[in-house]
Amino acid sequence: MESNWINTIGLRNIAAAIGFLLFLGWETFRPFFPFFKEAPVRRGKHLARNIGVALLNGAMIGLLFLPLWSRAAVPEFGLLHRFSMPGWLHTLFAILLLDCWTYWWHRLNHRIPFLWRFHRMHHSDPWMDVTTARRFHPGEIAFSSLLRLPLIFLLGIHLWELLLYGALMGLVVDFHHANIALPERIDRWLRAWIVTPAMHKVHHSRIQAETDSNYTSLLSVWDRLFGSFRLRPDLAAIHIGLDEWSEPPNQTLRGLLNTPIHREPAK
Ligand SMILES: [Zn+2]
Ligand SMILES: [Zn+2]
Repeated sequence: MESNWINTIGLRNIAAAIGFLLFLGWETFRPFFPFFKEAPVRRGKHLARNIGVALLNGAMIGLLFLPLWSRAAVPEFGLLHRFSMPGWLHTLFAILLLDCWTYWWHRLNHRIPFLWRFHRMHHSDPWMDVTTARRFHPGEIAFSSLLRLPLIFLLGIHLWELLLYGALMGLVVDFHHANIALPERIDRWLRAWIVTPAMHKVHHSRIQAETDSNYTSLLSVWDRLFGSFRLRPDLAAIHIGLDEWSEPPNQTLRGLLNTPIHREPAK
């Protein structure tokens, strides 16, 4: 059993690396915003900082939370085990429930000031690209990972289902953060199902009403269902980032990690 989920982690990491490199290549050759056109060094630093944060989070999850999640996934216990259903349906419900929870967790991060202190580090990136998909404060990752413990236990989700959800969500999250744009009719077709770059650019706008929209991570249905779906036609006019928090002193590795501590941004 143990080697099974370790294999799943291996496959998940390979799929994640392929997806990440694909979108990194895409935004290199066809960038939507010209963030790094005249500043390639800035791009290298930006990538190193965001990936640095991602590595910290990866180590914390691998060493601390994966072993805890595997204990919380008790066989034959939890809501989904109360109904008799084929395995594929169990997995489908597990993914839907996890995605719905992720939507509300994200929405709470915008609503509750204490959580926003951590989450604003994700939004303060003025040069959103595929590396921003991995830029979350370790505090936010620790809270969300802890909350997954009762969720897995009470809902009866298998660890491999959680890992599968993480892999699917990771691919879509890389996709919608990448500095790319699709032809409108393709984006429209895709966003009937999943979160697209057009949707998530609106979420990273500096206009608060736009920031407080499009919370979902994998399936677009939750924003439609809970009334937070929002689009704008002039994507190129969106000013990405967070006023003040996007200034250079807050963009160093130290500045990023200090984001929740300071009441005011560093000048
Ligand atoms: Zn957000
Ligand atoms: Zn984002």
